Parts: sequence; structure tokens; C-alpha cells
Amino acid sequence: MWKRKKLAVVLHAIDDVFANAAGEKNAFVVTRPPGHHASSSSSSGFCLFNNVAIAARYAMERYDVRRVLILDWDVHHGNGTQEIFYQDRNVLYMSLHRHDGGGFYPMGEPKDFSDVGEEDGVGFSVNVPFSSAKMGDLEYRAAFMKVIMPIAYEFNPELVLISSGFDAAAGDPLGEYKVSPETFALMTYELCGLAGGRTIAVLEGGYNLTAIAESAQAVVETLLHRAVVRKLVSAREQFATKKPQLHPEAWTSLRKVCHKQESYWSCLMGFQRLIGESSGSTLLDRKGRPTPTSTPKSEKTSTSSSKKLLPTPPSTTPRRSPRIAASQKKTEKTDMQKLEEEMARLMNPK
Ligand SMILES: [Zn+2]
Repeated sequence: MWKRKKLAVVLHAIDDVFANAAGEKNAFVVTRPPGHHASSSSSSGFCLFNNVAIAARYAMERYDVRRVLILDWDVHHGNGTQEIFYQDRNVLYMSLHRHDGGGFYPMGEPKDFSDVGEEDGVGFSVNVPFSSAKMGDLEYRAAFMKVIMPIAYEFNPELVLISSGFDAAAGDPLGEYKVSPETFALMTYELCGLAGGRTIAVLEGGYNLTAIAESAQAVVETLLHRAVVRKLVSAREQFATKKPQLHPEAWTSLRKVCHKQESYWSCLMGFQRLIGESSGSTLLDRKGRPTPTSTPKSEKTSTSSSKKLLPTPPSTTPRRSPRIAASQKKTEKTDMQKLEEEMARLMNPK
């Protein structure tokens, strides 16, 4: 019975959002256990039923919705959700998750940047995997602004569902990431600009009650006010003498995602070169391997400008004037004649 009630809450949120005009209603669904690891046939990783996937299907069947965006910011990849819609072009699944080269839960699942969907669904799974470091606000905001939102606008969804796990939040013992409530608020605000504001956030994982409470409050505040009401820049950041830097591994991840996904999303074309120049790192080929180094634009510019500004250095071999050269040539001819005359004399002695 409780399972039905739990699902009923998610479906009720769909009904409520579509019973009103676009922009009038959104929702935050507080439900446990989470759902995004559950596939269509089996439970997995604390998840029994995939609440978000069921909600998406329900909206498509009941309200004739053709384009659903599922954004999953739980620190774990939502392998169940991705599997359910892996061949479906009507549902765009995007996930930001801790990857660690495939070694983070769920292990052995297709969750890398190269896993983009199959058949009709190719390009409709977008994975932003983070490895090698504990990511936080800067990395999540960069991924959101440079990858998630451009693709989301190009897809132009009619409904946005957020798999809203808070185990990437600072203080979570499983995620070990450092995402602040302010960043969850910012990401919510950005997503509210889509689908006429038809946004439903559904609770997924999260294992630190304080972090869940603060992060959820930030999301709900943003949904209620349709604006970010939190101060996004802390005083410490504002007055810091050293500018915070994105972790290089985050740049690498974003570039790999963009290079793979630019075949399907025109908004990403050219992004790799742009981000490569700004980060000063190597460009990647389609498989994510470094390409041969090309001459940086700045270097080319400095070479051509130096040619204009600097005088031509003197040549080590002095150039002969045409008159001197002709005179020397004349002398050489005379010597040759002398030699020929001498040889002729020797061969024909008198
Ligand atoms: Zn999780």
C-alpha cells in the first residue's frame, strides 16, 4: 500500500502541474526510498520503483507530452532511468555524477561521456562524469552553464523532472563532494526557465540529514519564488585575492562530453576549441584522446607582428654589389683563358 501511495504522490504532482497553466505550478516531491537505480524489471541500490521514470511515462500517456527532460544531479548515476529511456528520443536523460573512471557506484554500468543512447535514442543520454577529484560548486556550475543548459534549451522540453538526490552536497558521507545549497538553488532556477516552468523535483539519495535539509530548502525556496533568493557569492569568495579555479579534470570531462555530444547537439559545436583555449589544455579527438599540438593563435600573432616591428637582422654573408660581381666574373674569365692557353702550350710544344 505504501508503495502505491509513494507513486501516487509523484503522479499527483504531474496532475497538479498539468491541471494549471504553464508557469503556475511546480513541485518538490519528498519521497523515500529513492528510485533512479531501479530498472523496469528489477530493484537496485536502495531503489524499488523508478519514481521519476514512471512520472515521465505517465505525463507522456496522460497529457500527450512529447519531450521530457530528466536532470539527475544525484552524485550516483541513475542507471535505471537511463536504461529505461536509452532508446527513446522523447526523453532526454542528463546526469552529473561521480564516476572515478567507472569505479564509483553503480559499477559496470554505461555512465561515461561516450554512453549516449542507442537506436532512436542516440544523443538523448548525456552523461557528465567526474573523476580524480572531489568536485564542488565551480565544477557543477560550469557543467550546468556550458553543457546542461545549452542542450536543454535545444531540446526544448515540455516537462522537466529533477532526480534530486543530495548526496553530492557538502558533508554527505557517501558522495564526498562539496556542492552547496546555493548551487542547488542556482541549478533549480536555470531549469525553471524551461518548459514554461513545469518543473518537478523528486527526492533521490542523500545520507546527511543536515545537508539534505539545507539543500532541499534551497530548491524549494527557488521553486516557490521562481527566483534565486540566496546569496550566491559568499563574502570569502568576494574578497578572495586568488580567483578560484575549476579542477583541470572537470575541464577534461566537459570537453569530452562536448566533443562526443556535438554530433547530436549543434549548440555544442566549437565549444571544445573555446574551452581548450581558455584552460590552456590540449584539444581532444572524438574518442577523447589528445590531438597533435597546433601553434597557438597568440604565438602565431606574435610572430607575424614581430616581423613588422623588428628590423631585419643583418646577413652574415655580405652581399656583393652588381658592379663588383661583374668585375670579379670578368677576372675569373681571364684566368680561365690563361689556363687554357697554358694547357694548349704544354700540349703543343713548339
Ligand atoms: Zn545517490
